Amino acid sequence: MTRQRAVILEVLRSDMCHHTAEEIFELAKAKLPTISRATVYNNLKALESERLIRRITAEGTKDRYDNAFVPHGHLFCTMCSEVTDFQIPNFKEKLEGIAGDAIDSYELKVRYVCPRCKKAAAGE
Ligand SMILES: [Zn+2]
Ligand SMILES: [Zn+2]
Repeated sequence: MTRQRAVILEVLRSDMCHHTAEEIFELAKAKLPTISRATVYNNLKALESERLIRRITAEGTKDRYDNAFVPHGHLFCTMCSEVTDFQIPNFKEKLEGIAGDAIDSYELKVRYVCPRCKKAAAGE
């Protein structure tokens, strides 16, 4: 593994913030000043195709990247585009029961208005 790739993975593992490619580039650059934007974008693509990371797509917002080590779903706020992780215990096993066999992965997107935006909308 190249140093650049290790740094990108380190950024993605260090928090669960669902960064955009641009944010990952900034964070990687802070650790490795010589890294270029193209290197970061190319590595993100490669890591995604190797399933080491996940790309989260949603309408109206930039793609974000996530580590893929723990299966989980995402709550999307339709107002501020914030992404929050959630897990349903044994959900993968339940899906496998429905599918009748082992599954590779699943994507679960839930749209809502987050508590902060709800508060702001209510003028609190
Ligand atoms: Zn919100
Ligand atoms: Zn996530």
